[in-house]
This record gives sequence, C-alpha cells and structure tokens, in this order.
Amino acid sequence: MKAAAGVLGFDEALAKVLEHAAKLSRPQSEILALLACADRVLAEAILADRDQPPFDRSTRDGFALRAADAAAPLDAAAPLKVVGQIRAGEQWQGGALEHGTAVEIMTGAPIPLAYDAVVMIEHIERDEDSIRLTAGRTIRSGENIVPQGSEARAGQSVLSPGTVVEGAEIALAAACGRSELQVFRKPRVAIVATGDELVTLNATPGPQQIRNSNSYGLAALVARTGGEPVQLPIAPDRRAELERTIRSARDSDLILLSGGVSMGKYDLVEEVLQGLGAEFFFTGVKMQPGKPLVFGRLPATDEFPSQFFFGLPGNPVSTQVTFHCFVEPMLRAISGAAVQGPCFVQATLAEDVAGKADLMRVLPARWTTDRVRPEVRLVGWQGSGDLAANARANCYAVLPPERERFAAGDAITVLLR
Ligand code: AMP
Ligand code: MG
Repeated sequence: MKAAAGVLGFDEALAKVLEHAAKLSRPQSEILALLACADRVLAEAILADRDQPPFDRSTRDGFALRAADAAAPLDAAAPLKVVGQIRAGEQWQGGALEHGTAVEIMTGAPIPLAYDAVVMIEHIERDEDSIRLTAGRTIRSGENIVPQGSEARAGQSVLSPGTVVEGAEIALAAACGRSELQVFRKPRVAIVATGDELVTLNATPGPQQIRNSNSYGLAALVARTGGEPVQLPIAPDRRAELERTIRSARDSDLILLSGGVSMGKYDLVEEVLQGLGAEFFFTGVKMQPGKPLVFGRLPATDEFPSQFFFGLPGNPVSTQVTFHCFVEPMLRAISGAAVQGPCFVQATLAEDVAGKADLMRVLPARWTTDRVRPEVRLVGWQGSGDLAANARANCYAVLPPERERFAAGDAITVLLR
C-alpha cells in the first residue's frame, strides 16, 4: 500500500522542503570555545566591541601628509619635510604637525589627526629628509586611509544568528574579542538502512549480499552538514522490525531511511511510516536519479515531539543526490541555519548531451575549477548504483526536462557538493 501524497516536480518538491524548513523553531544552544564553533551555527548576534578599524588606519607603507600640501602643480610644490615615523602599534607622539611636513608610516598604523592622506612609498621621490610626489602622481584627501568605524561601529551587529561559522566568521569573532560563542546544539540524525540483502561492514558478504554503504555515506554527509549521525542497525524488509527500528529513532531530530521506498513488494517503508501516523508531503520526485523519494513527518506522541523524515531511495547514488538536493537544506535549517536551497551554479557544458523528456536529471559530473570559464562534463556511469562513478564526480549536472539536447558550449546548472 502506497501513501497518498504524490509525485512532485523537482522545484515543487524543493519548495515543499524549504516551506517546512522555514517554519522550524529555533534549536537549543550551548556555549563553546571559539575554535570548537567551526562548522556550527551561531545562536547569537556578534557585536563589534569597538569601532573597526579602531583608528584611521593606513593601508599602505608610505608617508602620511596633508593632501593639499602635496598637491599640484607638482613640480612647483615644495618638498615635504619628513619629521618622524609611525610603526604599526604606535601612535604619533611628536606634537604639532606643521604644514609642509610628512611622517613615514607603516601599513596598519594610525594616521595622525592633522593628516588626511597616505602616499605610497612607490609614489614618492626621497631626498635626505624630504619627499615629493613622483612627477605625474596626484594624491586625494582620504587616499590609502580606512576611516575609524567604517567597517563596523562599536555595538553594531557584524554576524547574525543563523550564520554558519567558518574561517571568516571565526576571524571576525576573534577581532571582536570573543573567545567563546553561543551556537546551536547539533541535531541528532538517525540513519536507518533497510534491505534484506544488506550486511554490516565487518561481515563477509555472501555472493548475493550487499554491504551497507549508504549508512556510511549518509553519516559522512550528515556530519559535514553540521549534524550528529546516529547509525542504527540495518532493518530487514519486515514490517515489525522496520517499525521497531523507526520507533527507536524517535528521540532524534530527523530520521533518514534508505531503501524500501520503490514499488516492489518488499518496499515497506511508506507503509510502516503510515501505520505510525505519518503525514506525507511528497512520495516521489520527477528526477533521475532519485525518483522514489519520500518526505514527511511523524506526529508528536506523549513522549516525543513531531519528527521529520526522509525515505531516501536505496540506490547509493540516488541516496547521495537526494541528500544534497533535499536533506541538506532541511538539516541546515534544523541546525538553526538561515533557510537556503542547495548550492547551484552555472558552468559551461563541455560536450553534447541528449535530453530526456519527462525527468529532471541530476547526473554525476566533473567541473574544472578554471577561474574564467569553468566547464562541466558528465562522468560515465552504470546508473544509480555506480558509487565509483559518483566518487569520480565532483558535482552533479542538472539537466531540466523537455529539452531535446544540450550542446557543448551551453550554460547549464551544476549542483555543487
Ligand atoms: P531499494 O530502494 O530498497 O529497492 O534498493 C535499491 C538498490 O539499492 C538495491 O540494489 C539495493 O541493494 C541497493 N541498496 C539499498 N540499500 C542500500 C544500502 N544501505 N547500501 C548499499 N546499497 C543499498
Ligand atoms: Mg530494498
């Protein structure tokens, strides 16, 4: 018995996931040491604790001066007398700075109040203790100076809750004096592989048996997406055992099932979820690979709140593709991150590809990291069970339905992973 929900187009299905992602409540948070916050999601706003930069900062090694003093006509302008130097970490202590003077200054040092520009060392001619601009050079007021507070004012928010913390955010938090941050607790993601043919990694598979690779692939993807994977024992294709396994996953924040969602006689996942009162948002997506993909929610019980689940197709490439397209945005949102779809970019197709009428295809591909014109080429594969091809790929080419062919040179969408 199949659940009554329906097969959606790719965009509709993604919109459905994002709609539910947007309605999630904020997870609980914890305080961690700054470096332990890498890849976590901020639960608080980070405020600048002082103006950034904290003083008018020189962006160059050169000479601080009054732009008007050095102004044209250049040849006529008198040389400026160099009256001292300021290193990074120092402040001008030399008293009043008369017109017609300059101070040698290093990158990152504060500009003396009397001055309004820095001329680069490469743009002057030096003679004993005086300098003049190289012929043809001009200097504007404000040149090579970043004004105090222009990057952020003291008290201003520089990072908002829901931001994923990576190197850029850690550096900024450190600049604001933060050695600890409040981040959201990692969601626990239960992973349930289903299938009578599956064996664990430490078993020697019989000739007709298959190693449970999906649990590992999914666990790695979950961890990378900011979740804490919980690999549950393999569930055989029997109602009672499948139900018992799903019940044992109720204490997690999301359930990922793999396999058992196709049309076969022993594909029991939907039926068992339905028996547990699940609500289904879709039971298939018009895409290849990945068509038998189920998204829904188990109702709250006395013991547990309601819980989203994905029934992912068992074919290993389908499992991974559907994770990137649908699970990743949902899991990010469950982790407290701002809701965002998968990471699509445009690249130039390097070869002709035949179209397919009815399905959106998301095919293993490789894109070159050429800066100017990234090109993408499909990876040869044996279909959605071909894990070796999936590992040779570094992205997926997204080929929309209803096009007869895609030609070399066409701009196509690529799903980054
Ligand atoms: P299913 O979706 O259950 O019909 O499975 C489709 C295909 O994926 C079959 O060839 C399965 O053997 C394979 N498969 C299902 N689950 C896994 C798994 N956890 N690891 C590796 N292959 C799997
Ligand atoms: Mg199966």
